[in-house]
Amino acid sequence: MSKSIAKKEKRGMYQNVLHQFNKAADVMNLDPGVRKILGTTQNEIVVHFPAKMDDGSVEVFTGYRVQHNNALGPYKGGLRYHPTVDIDAARALATWMTWKTALAGLPYGGGKGGIQIDPKKYSKGELERITRRFTYALGNNIGPDYDIPAPDVNTNSQIMAWIADTFASNQAPGQRFNSFHVVTGKPVVSGGLEGRDRATGFGVVTTIQKWADLREEDLSNKTYIVQGFGNVGYWASHFMKEKGVKLIGVQDHSGTIYNEDGIDPEELLAYATDNNGGIKGFHKADEYDKDTFFGIDCDIIIPAALGNQITTDNAGMIKAQLVAEGANGPTDTDAEQILLDKGIEIIPDILCNGGGVIGSYFEWLQNKRSEIWKIEDVLIKLQDKLEISFDKVIKTAEKYDIDWRTAAYVVAMERLEQTYTERGVFP
Ligand code: GLU
Repeated sequence: MSKSIAKKEKRGMYQNVLHQFNKAADVMNLDPGVRKILGTTQNEIVVHFPAKMDDGSVEVFTGYRVQHNNALGPYKGGLRYHPTVDIDAARALATWMTWKTALAGLPYGGGKGGIQIDPKKYSKGELERITRRFTYALGNNIGPDYDIPAPDVNTNSQIMAWIADTFASNQAPGQRFNSFHVVTGKPVVSGGLEGRDRATGFGVVTTIQKWADLREEDLSNKTYIVQGFGNVGYWASHFMKEKGVKLIGVQDHSGTIYNEDGIDPEELLAYATDNNGGIKGFHKADEYDKDTFFGIDCDIIIPAALGNQITTDNAGMIKAQLVAEGANGPTDTDAEQILLDKGIEIIPDILCNGGGVIGSYFEWLQNKRSEIWKIEDVLIKLQDKLEISFDKVIKTAEKYDIDWRTAAYVVAMERLEQTYTERGVFP
């Protein structure tokens, strides 16, 4: 992300989460004890660990893993490598994971973490050593039936393979094979799931299709813009293209581009791959002003980068009908109110990007059962789960006459409230 995009992310993400949580808790009249439990994180692990650099020097890094809640199952959620990773961001992202997994009906809780680092500054060998020492420092704070990390911003299947290998190598010999599912999002040959790479983007488009069906609108007449052209941004664009929706603007860490006649996501990916991952300079589009990107005249906006990107600075200029949150926390709470007042609909992150963790769940099941699933089956099952969640959110929004984000929270929190009510609080 550009410096300005990264700076905005720093503005109290956890505060946003708590605001959203309290709003939903009021609506559903959440049990006061459960409100206290869910209003805080369970464990916060901060590790400082050394790693050797290519020139022989040693650097010390700071890594985080926040475990928000595990009432419904093992902690689950990604690890990101980014300079904005800190305790506030990890708390916020871990809490969102609890809602996300509960909403999707998965047997998981929520966790999140990462390393405060700009991975572009390190060689592949350095990243491997940093990742392995981070995994070692986390020790048994993660585990295949306890806390299961996955890819997030700037982490990928290669990094998951190093984590799995390091974790497994530190288990007793008889436990090694069974400990590989300590992470999901692994390379396919190392037990990864076919389709996990595209699961989040596929899910984003599934929810956009549900929105169009609800409004009885034809997606193929629509235009959209996407912020972030990493895993989520690219795959969402790929599936939007399959539905004939026209991509007219893209923004990433390197620049902002626009073409009213359309940008082909496959050509853009090929360009970015040869260009250090950046879209800047793509020959089939013009450069565009970064500060008015969200004001581009289009039907749908897919923020698929970092948090706090749609703020009071730019919410007023948005002309789109729909914001589909591929990223976690891209809309801050004040901006959300502006959008809702303007009649702009928002598919909230915990629903919109839930395809990723649903894909992770399938991978985990596949590993536990020693099975290998086919991509066609994966995508069908994924679509099915997301459609069920989407319908629940719409029904709940109607029942309480609330916005979709609050409704998504209510669905998630009702499940958690019921669990705590049935089990009670030990002792
Ligand atoms: N990092 C993704 C998310 O924010 C995926 C998490 C997972 O698969 O555990 O939802």
